[in-house]
Amino acid sequence: MRKVLVTGGAGFIGSHLCEALLQRGDEVFVLDDLSTGQIENIAHLRNRKAFHFTLGSILDFPLLESLIKKTDLIFHLAAVVGVQKIIEVPVDTIEINVLGSHNVLNLAARYRKPCLLASTSEIYGKSTKHPFTEDDDAVYGPTTKSRWSYACSKAIDEFLALAYHNAQDLQVIIARLFNTTGPRQTGRYGMVLPRFVDQALRGEPITVFGNGHQTRCFADVSDVVRALLLLVDRPAAIGQVFNVGNPEEVSILELARLVKKLTGSDSEIRLIPYDQAYQPGFEDMDRRVPNIGKISELVGFKPSLRLREIVARIIESRREQVEESVGLPVTAEAQPHSLRAGAGE
Ligand code: UDP
Repeated sequence: MRKVLVTGGAGFIGSHLCEALLQRGDEVFVLDDLSTGQIENIAHLRNRKAFHFTLGSILDFPLLESLIKKTDLIFHLAAVVGVQKIIEVPVDTIEINVLGSHNVLNLAARYRKPCLLASTSEIYGKSTKHPFTEDDDAVYGPTTKSRWSYACSKAIDEFLALAYHNAQDLQVIIARLFNTTGPRQTGRYGMVLPRFVDQALRGEPITVFGNGHQTRCFADVSDVVRALLLLVDRPAAIGQVFNVGNPEEVSILELARLVKKLTGSDSEIRLIPYDQAYQPGFEDMDRRVPNIGKISELVGFKPSLRLREIVARIIESRREQVEESVGLPVTAEAQPHSLRAGAGE
């Protein structure tokens, strides 16, 4: 039985990772400050003997040290994430992402514990070379535009991780996660798919920012967790950077249409200018497509769920909560097509 520390384990991706680790027979220790993570995400795990939760921050060095000392492997997922959140709390973004990650990497090196660092596709910035490949250049906007602080903070994490690997032989793997979605993700911090699904189920306007021609590639969290587990089991992955995602590309406008269709919703699709949605002068990325050749080649990773199934899974998981919050059963028309008998395209 391996003892595994998951920082940010009460978050959306972290909680799914914890489930998978327990499933494999590992003993799991979570450190989470519940800033964006939620206790409900792990409520179903808390009575498991092999699951331990500590409320606290990666900025708390002694606490982190006590946890790292007793574990065999670290998944470092704790971070400030989500574009809206980053604009709201710019100081926390930089402090937690840089100083907190420094603590994790420093202690992992000191106690010789292997560590997977969760990074982000945001690292590539507004590069227009598609698809994004691990060695591509990053292109960022000016420091006066706060969204770039997220990319820069995670880029520092990556530099630091590779520096510890080169200088102190830290066994680190960097996984750049592209847009990841699935059950338990909340739209509160700007994540587009749960927002669209909730809006559609409530019959509210589906808010597409900009002209909706920007594209993204969505991977289901179950595929992303599988990729992370494959990487930590492969010694050849150490000291390397990997894209993790699903290359199936969709425009945000097409995505809104798909959500509307699969929920059977009457919601209007409403275009909202970026200035109103975020802040004046906001810069979005036009495209963000992963090249997953490197991870496929090394560990045989291939996403198993396609966009339609991914969206259907989110609809299924959100329907009950939306019903509870609006106090009405969501009508048969508002059930995902995939859940209705004989539903076709
Ligand atoms: N977006 C949108 N409506 C929303 C939330 C997001 O049109 O209610 C857009 C956002 O501007 C971006 C894309 O959806 O172009 C993905 O946004 P998200 O915040 O989920 O992830 P990002 O890829 O920007 O990190």
